[in-house]
Amino acid sequence: MAGSVPAPGAYGSAQPVPDGWRAETGGLRRPALGGPRAGLAASALVAALALGNLAGLPPAAAAAATGAPFDGVGVAAVGAAQPGVTAPAGAGSTSGGDTTLALPAWPLVQSGQQGPQVRTVQYLLRGRGETISADGVFGAQTKAAVQRFQTAQGLDADGIVGPLSWSALVVPLDSGGSGEPVRALQTQLNRYGAALAVDGVFGAPTAAAVTGFRTEHDLGAGTAVDATVWQALVGGAPGAGTYALPLAHEKLPRGEYDDPHHDYPAIDLPVGTGTPAYASAAGTVTAVNNSACGIGVQIRDAAGVVFMYCHFSQRVAAGGSTVTPGQLVGYTGSTGNSTGPHLHFEIRTGSTNRCPQNFLLALYDGVTPPDPATLPTSGCTSAGLVAGESAHD
Ligand SMILES: [Zn+2]
Repeated sequence: MAGSVPAPGAYGSAQPVPDGWRAETGGLRRPALGGPRAGLAASALVAALALGNLAGLPPAAAAAATGAPFDGVGVAAVGAAQPGVTAPAGAGSTSGGDTTLALPAWPLVQSGQQGPQVRTVQYLLRGRGETISADGVFGAQTKAAVQRFQTAQGLDADGIVGPLSWSALVVPLDSGGSGEPVRALQTQLNRYGAALAVDGVFGAPTAAAVTGFRTEHDLGAGTAVDATVWQALVGGAPGAGTYALPLAHEKLPRGEYDDPHHDYPAIDLPVGTGTPAYASAAGTVTAVNNSACGIGVQIRDAAGVVFMYCHFSQRVAAGGSTVTPGQLVGYTGSTGNSTGPHLHFEIRTGSTNRCPQNFLLALYDGVTPPDPATLPTSGCTSAGLVAGESAHD
């Protein structure tokens, strides 16, 4: 398997493909920002180009490869490759049984983002001699450093760290190593709960965390961190298979996920009618259709936590069906007691509404979300109505 992974630099043969799938070059459309959902298509395409053929690509990726337009719904139709969900084994396999394509996609990291993915990029750039601060905030200095790196690598200097830039940025590491790239590695391992000191020393604790990660992700034994391990780390979502954002990552900026709700713990996410909404957890669907919620769904997980979605224009998941995280459950709208299109989302344990904001922010940032049952029951409401919605239960 490792032998089938294009080494960093091998992607040079895919130069015509713009890093980040920018629309202005080659007619390609970027399927989605950051989410493994889009990324499966993106990584599949990059891998296919590196392999010199498009056989076995999902239809959306194949369409992208040929320059044919496609939309996000088409990408969603690829199936379980949704935000926060690791692609099922073999989902992107070629006929040769190559499992490379089951790796999660490299995320797109760019201006305005913050968190461990940004910090990882900053440490890797520092390892290349940049003197930027590793503060986890993607500002002007980080963008300029990314652009310098891209120019030096012969990449499109768009300042967006996508598959090509990631592949060029990461460096192989192993026990005994040290320096800024090791801090990047430790930052990634901590996303998965390793609780390492980010000291840049690849000692026993870091080695143990790498071994654990490799074993858990079927990457074989050992402490080596090669391009495959880097991609699994950076592209993976902690808790993958457990939770997913209810909307594609690129649909809303981070700041929309910390907004208070107007009257009780919940959140209103402002997206236009027809936006795909995804199951945040695995569970059993109850169809909702009443004057308050309009068309919606409740998803009850194995622990009894209820994830509720309201104001759909169309429900996709049928009542009584079971869904997996990231599965399409409906399209947003403004049915029920709503004065404008948005997704009303709430989390309940028993009859208690909990504040979903920290849960959603963690998923947005790619870190392990808190157990829904531990979410606060107050502190996320505000007086007055959020634009686009009137009070409802
Ligand atoms: Zn609401």
